[in-house]
Amino acid sequence: FYVLVTGILFYLLLKKHLIKIRNAEKKARESDHLKTAFLQNISHEIRTPMNGIVGFAGLLKENDLTQDEKDMYLDIITKSSDQLLNVVNDVLDVSLIDSGNVIINKTQFNLNEFMNQIYSVHGTILSKDISLQLNNTLSGLDYIVFTDKIKLGQIFDNLISNAIKYTPKGLIEFGCEMKEDQLLFFVKDSGIGIAPKYHEKIFDRFHRAEVETTKTIGGAGLGLAICKGNVELLGGEIWVESNLGDGSKFYFTMPGEFVISEIKEEQKEKF
Ligand code: ADP
Repeated sequence: FYVLVTGILFYLLLKKHLIKIRNAEKKARESDHLKTAFLQNISHEIRTPMNGIVGFAGLLKENDLTQDEKDMYLDIITKSSDQLLNVVNDVLDVSLIDSGNVIINKTQFNLNEFMNQIYSVHGTILSKDISLQLNNTLSGLDYIVFTDKIKLGQIFDNLISNAIKYTPKGLIEFGCEMKEDQLLFFVKDSGIGIAPKYHEKIFDRFHRAEVETTKTIGGAGLGLAICKGNVELLGGEIWVESNLGDGSKFYFTMPGEFVISEIKEEQKEKF
């Protein structure tokens, strides 16, 4: 009897141990796969603008260029340089968030004005197939918030850029509302959508939803990880509601303690 019990116990222990090893191997394989995918993606993200810069800088040296041609080449070089700078900044931002050394600089500002600025920046660079709408439901009131304006702007920039990137044609809406004592921000698109099994993973760095369309659209999988890092540093949460082929709605919150007050009509001048 004792031999039997010892045998069963030994078998159970061995099984548990084997499962642990198998899980560790699976994790290591996943992490390897992620690293390879990241290196491929980031190389592509760097090489594309670099080709633009090197190629068109070379063309600029030719003697018989018209002014229009020169302007066009310079425009491509500038856009490619901005693209390259964005990639480098994303990598630096992720490592800064990882290290826990991000400096938060909170100030008071008028939220409605801020949202209008976001609209002006993105509204002017849209293609003809995409329209952008600002839908604030703050019932016509202006709010003063106390938060890091640059970080809040970065979160919107990333979410709206993604919405534009993953929406071949259609409408993008963004805005905010006051809900249960906190501010609820959203960016909604009518693009390719995201299958529910990726809803959590895409906020981890390097993770991208594996669909054909995402493969053809470039990206290193850093934008949402930066958004999540920034939202959490400002005390909020971020999540997505979406289905494949059905558009996406990204939400993030800001705790009510950072909403100072509604601005009264006579105070508006001051902000
Ligand atoms: P990147 O866009 O560079 O791949 P992100 O971290 O910004 O990296 O996004 C991670 C992934 O989430 C994307 O690769 C894409 O699969 C998915 N995703 C993000 N935003 C959207 C969106 N608005 N619509 C559809 N998919 C999205």
